Parts: sequence; structure tokens; C-alpha cells
Amino acid sequence: MNQSIQTQPPNNVSLLISQSRTNTLGNKTGTWRFVRPKYQEKTAPCSNACPLGIDVAMVEMFASRKNYQNALHTILMENPFPAICGRVCFHPCESACNRQFLDQSVGIHQIERFVGDWGLSNQQSPIQYPELNGAKIGIIGAGPAGLSAAYFARRLGYQCDIFEKTNQPGGLLISGIPSYRLPDRILMNEIQRLNDDGIQIKYNQSISMDKLATFKQDYDALFLCCGDTRSITLKIPGENLAIDGLNLLRQIRSHEMPSIEGTVAVIGGGNTAIDVARSLLRMGANPIIIYRRTRKEMPAHPHEIDAALDEGITLKECLSPIHIQDETNCLCVTLQVMKASEISNEGRQSYIPDGNRREKLQVNHVISAIGAEMDMMWRNDQWDISLSHCRMKQISGLSVFWCGDLTISDKTVTHALASGKQAVIALDVLRKHGNDEIHKTFHQCKVGNGQAISFDIYAQGKRKQRNNNEIVSFEKINAAYFPNIPAVQVNKQSQEAYLNSFEEVISGFDEKQMIGEASRCFNCGICNDCDTCRIFCPEMAIQWDQNNRHILMDYCKGCGICIAECPRDAMNLEVEP
Ligand code: SF4
Ligand code: SF4
Ligand code: SF4
Repeated sequence: MNQSIQTQPPNNVSLLISQSRTNTLGNKTGTWRFVRPKYQEKTAPCSNACPLGIDVAMVEMFASRKNYQNALHTILMENPFPAICGRVCFHPCESACNRQFLDQSVGIHQIERFVGDWGLSNQQSPIQYPELNGAKIGIIGAGPAGLSAAYFARRLGYQCDIFEKTNQPGGLLISGIPSYRLPDRILMNEIQRLNDDGIQIKYNQSISMDKLATFKQDYDALFLCCGDTRSITLKIPGENLAIDGLNLLRQIRSHEMPSIEGTVAVIGGGNTAIDVARSLLRMGANPIIIYRRTRKEMPAHPHEIDAALDEGITLKECLSPIHIQDETNCLCVTLQVMKASEISNEGRQSYIPDGNRREKLQVNHVISAIGAEMDMMWRNDQWDISLSHCRMKQISGLSVFWCGDLTISDKTVTHALASGKQAVIALDVLRKHGNDEIHKTFHQCKVGNGQAISFDIYAQGKRKQRNNNEIVSFEKINAAYFPNIPAVQVNKQSQEAYLNSFEEVISGFDEKQMIGEASRCFNCGICNDCDTCRIFCPEMAIQWDQNNRHILMDYCKGCGICIAECPRDAMNLEVEP
């Protein structure tokens, strides 16, 4: 029985408050319900945009609580190299981050770098490897795709041998990325972790196409991860006077510093051109980047272009070299002026010569850095399996996968790592269930609506419980819970220090900065135990016991308040069955 109690609040207004004298558990308000709430985790837009499908929301949650072991484990589920990716990934995750619609995106890659570095300093590898399953894989090339393939294959129990043409691992990570972006110690220590986990790399092994069939004796499958190793040529008179940009980067990385002084024309608009120009600046030269379109169309990542221009490098747009001539004490480059033409079907602005308008540029050196392509011997058009990041062809009864730059259109480190992961899962499905199951399995392992697939989902991990195809939009975030907090600025070395050496430019977050930045994350789509649902439930139908939150359906009347209040869209309302 209920009664009313009259109280006397301070302002002399009387209030009537109902009070129950009996246990209200008998009032099973759940009978009113025609919809019911459900905890349903989803995909954050950052994970959807990450080529590796890393569970970023979870990483940021663990990192903000200083639980670095779990943060590292979460990254390593999908990515073997957090310290490398935290430095060189073009971080499309941040362009998709929901927080940008409130103030600024979360600095995801810097947090990943911090966690990766923590793992290296604490010699942590929280990944458990299964027993070997008896099958053996040969991998050609110890670049990002090959190393990634080896890592994920080992995690499925395959024994792996990598055959590397040179005398060191890393592929383009070591030959194409200067140390001011990726220091040797970081690169080598992350690769060493794979060696420690039993992955063998055999150096100075040059493998050609006609030798592939011989692998059948010792291996159950072969992965070709040889990368784009041939520089694309300018195809203009006097090209022989130009220095090859990729080769130059390789020499600089191996400390065989060639003497290049004075004004240097760097031809190209991709990341190689930017890396060459920034390296030349550190060697005391005056680089000028020459690009045939405008800055907007440059294929280099915008933050790399910004960094080059901030360092004082000159960019000359809409100029295409047509001739290089040897003159007394200098080289003369004839440049054709280009102008915008129509927009292609793919939406790309094309450029054509602007009549006979030409410019002459006198320089001390010319560097050609217009990109690379695969060695012709790996070319192939006939496939037994064709997937977004890898292809497979049976050669003399051996499954041979083409991976990394040999197959991907986005030639980035992160896409190459994703390619190795995809190829390994494809091989595993092929061996266990046959060709027809590959697409179906990939669909089940998809993170969001892009191409990324999750190893955790494939391995039947916790992520499998989520609604992985549903992406949390900003409209689904309860922004009232999040005050405006500007992004934490990352530490950089002083210009004087880094422009005179190949020391790393960005020094990253310290712990306090990292926690501040990770705490800005909304943790889109995952339950981070904020308890808001339980606090707001008017029926006290949400219970927390034994580290578990559950809804007492006898008392939940389906009002939906918990869902409306959830700050991060980790709950759904469903029609009663
Ligand atoms: S790998 Fe790249 S895209 Fe993925 S979370 Fe890290 S920084 Fe972002
Ligand atoms: S707020 Fe956090 S979880 Fe949400 S998109 Fe940004 S980084 Fe990802
Ligand atoms: S707030 Fe409580 S009563 Fe309302 S739907 Fe959620 S659990 Fe049910």
C-alpha cells in the first residue's frame, strides 16, 4: 500500500512524494513492454576507415586507463606493427573520426605510436601463438606485406620461412622511408618481435618466377610479396642525367650518403618525391619539387606535403619536364607549362600542355621520383581467386598468392599489411573449406562497409559478438556528455635540430598527453562501463553484478531512456519477439 508524505522544503512550497511501504519488486513493469533494450556494440567510423580494421575505440579506452597491455593486445590482434604504423600510416582513421564534428579528431596514430613504443620498451608481446599445424608457407619478400603474412600465418599455426633478396628485412620500410620518419631502432625492434616469435628470414635469396614450382617440395603455399622495385622512368631526352630517387633513399638509409649539393630539381608528386626532397634538405641541398599538376592533385599524403613546405621546400606546380641537358657546371631542365583540362570519369582533374609555354630551370642535380612498378616477371592476368588486396593462382599444384604492392592500388604500408592479413585468411579458408567459402567468410569478418577484415572476428574473438556492419555516425553520439576539448598537440623537435640531421622530427606524446588525447575519444559503439544506462533507468532494471551489466526484463518497461542516454550508441531497442 502506498501513502503520501507531506514534506516542508526550505522555500515553504509543499511537496507530495509517494513512498512505498512494500517491496516494489512485485510490480513487474516488464509486462507493459512492447520493445526491449539490448546491449549491442557496433563499429566506430575510425575502425571502418582503417585498412587494418583496428578496434580503435577499444584501444583508446584501454590507453586512457593506462591499461597498455590490453591496448597493445587489441592493436596486435589486427596489426603486427603499432610503433611503425603509429609513425608512417597515413591515418585515414582520423579523417573519419566522429570527434571532428564536435571539435577536432582524436590523434589516433600518435596514441598507437605511444602504445607500440610502450610494447617495445617493456618487451611485451601479449599474443599467444597456437601449436604449429604441420603446414608450411614460403614468403618471398620481407617487406610489410611479407612480414604481415608471416605474422598472421603463424597465428593460425602455419610455419613460415621468408626469403629476402637483400641482407636486411623491412623492404620499402627500410629502403623507401627516411629515418626522420621511421628510426632504425623502431623498425628493427618491431621486426625482431616476429623473429622472437619463431618467424625465420633467409637473406640474400633471389627468387625468380621460373623457380616457384620448386617450392612445392617443401611448402604448402607461397606468398609473393616482392613489392614495386623498379623505378618508373621519365621517358624524356637526357633522362640518363637524372638520379634515381628510390635508389637515393636506399643509399641514405644505409648511410652511404652521396654528395649532392646546390639546387636540386626533384621530379614527382608522390611520397617518394617528398621524402627525397626532405632528405636533400637535411643533406644541405636546396630541393625544388616539380609537379605536373597542382598541389591539390599530388598523390603524396597531405600531411607529408605540409611538412615539406613547412621546412621551406619550394613546390613548382603545373610543370612537366621534357628535356634535361648537360650545360657547363649545371643541368638545364626544360619544363612544359601545363594547364587544367577536363575532369575524368573518376573525378580527377586532367592536365594538358599549355601550348608551347616552356620554362628553363638551371640546377645542380635532377632526381627522378615519379614512383615505382613491379618487376615485369611478376605480371599476371589470369587468376583462380581475385580479392581486394590479393590474388591467387595455382602453379603446378601450388597455391601462389600475389600480395602487397603487386596487387593493391593504394600503395601504402598499412594497405600492404592488410594485404598480408587478407591473403593468410584466404589461404586458411581455402584449405579448410574450399574456394567457394572465401567471399562468404570475408563478408562475415568485415569491419564496417569497407575492405578491412578482422583477424579477431575470423579467430572467433570477442569482436564477433558485435554488429560489425553497423557504423556509428556522429548523430548517434549523445554529444551532451562531451565538452569541447581541443586536441593535444604532439611534441616536435626544434627545426634547427631536425633540419641538420636525420633525427626523428616528431617526438610523440608523453604519457600525460597521451592519456589526455585518448580520453577525448567517444569510444563510439562500444560499452566502456560508464554506467549511464543503469543510473538513468527509472525502473532500476539494469543490474551490475559479477562484472556484468544485465537488464532485468521483468522490470524493464521498454521506455528507451537507457538507449537515449547511452553516450556512445552501444545499445539498441528491439521490437519484442
Ligand atoms: S593503422 Fe593507420 S588507419 Fe589504422 S588505426 Fe592506426 S593510424 Fe589509424
Ligand atoms: S571518437 Fe574515438 S571511437 Fe569515435 S571515431 Fe573518434 S577515435 Fe574512433
Ligand atoms: S531505461 Fe530501464 S526501463 Fe527503460 S528501456 Fe532501459 S532498461 Fe528498460
